[in-house]
Amino acid sequence: MYRVAVIKGDGIGIEVTEAAIEVINAVTDRIEFIEFEGGFEVFKRYGAPIREEDLEEIKKMDAVLFGATSTPFDVPNYKSLIITLRKELNLYANLRIIPDLWNEREIYIVRENSEGLYSGLYDVEKEKVVDYRIITRKGAERIARFAINLAKEKREKVTFVHKANVLMGDKFFRKVVLSLAEREGVEVREKIVDSFTIELVRNPWNQEIILTENLFGDILSDLAAIHARSIGIVPSGNYGDDIALFEPIHGTAPDIAGKGIANPIGSILSGAMLLDYLNLNGQIIWEAVKSYVRKGNLTPDLGGTAMTKDVVEGIIEEIEYRI
Ligand code: ATP
Ligand code: MG
Repeated sequence: MYRVAVIKGDGIGIEVTEAAIEVINAVTDRIEFIEFEGGFEVFKRYGAPIREEDLEEIKKMDAVLFGATSTPFDVPNYKSLIITLRKELNLYANLRIIPDLWNEREIYIVRENSEGLYSGLYDVEKEKVVDYRIITRKGAERIARFAINLAKEKREKVTFVHKANVLMGDKFFRKVVLSLAEREGVEVREKIVDSFTIELVRNPWNQEIILTENLFGDILSDLAAIHARSIGIVPSGNYGDDIALFEPIHGTAPDIAGKGIANPIGSILSGAMLLDYLNLNGQIIWEAVKSYVRKGNLTPDLGGTAMTKDVVEGIIEEIEYRI
């Protein structure tokens, strides 16, 4: 049995996570889900977005399934739960898979998730503020290895996106990536980040495995997500050495929360990524989802009239027919 922590969060985070669990349970009975509370409500009671003892429990699990939590930006000292978890669980690799569910193609974006401009190191003086953009050999190597392993698995090349013509950190990062890729026999295509944005808009589907540092990855992965047709269908994984956390990329969507119409596919596909991580059959979920969207009724974000539960039922039927 695998033990998977579940944090549903707020708003549609709750609805879509429950949907994903139903679908996962239709594929395998080898996962025990253990629910934890986290987010702003917990912060109001305990002064932290997750209880210390819960965090220690979660660290012992095999993986985490996460919904979405609201992060009020006007509350002093509030630290977002997902940022806390990324740090505490040392989840340094972020992988977004942006699917074109109707045409069997995907964009993979691997974002370094622990250093760069989000190092948290800065100097504030009266007339000058400096944010430190940290690139370490260790950080560069582990993310390069992650992208290269993925490229090997998918029989793809790596598209390394950087600004090494200007930034010293990227010059260093580039050396690490190119030398590891050469040792591993993986081909690397290099792109300068500014001109790459145009390519990602015009010609998104032949970009192989995109690898980039933290800030560029933050921006490019949001940009790339527009090609999915709805933010509600894009899954992601955050990986460390001992544990990984899976979540749809969307937020709590307060405008549709509680109406039963949230698109659960992003969370369901995050569940597929979780199964792959545990060496279970995630592929069956991908196939079931693709098959369902071609013929089934879709949620309003994709122009249909379906409720969340209809989509879940339809996808589970597709799974049962394949088992
Ligand atoms: P948060 O503050 O939690 O990030 P948000 O207001 O930024 O919330 P998002 O969840 O990022 O909202 O959603 C942005 C828009 O996309 C909203 O209009 C929302 O209704 C829509 N949306 C997001 N996720 C889904 C989904 N799974 N199904 C349908 N629509 C969605
Ligand atoms: Mg948001």
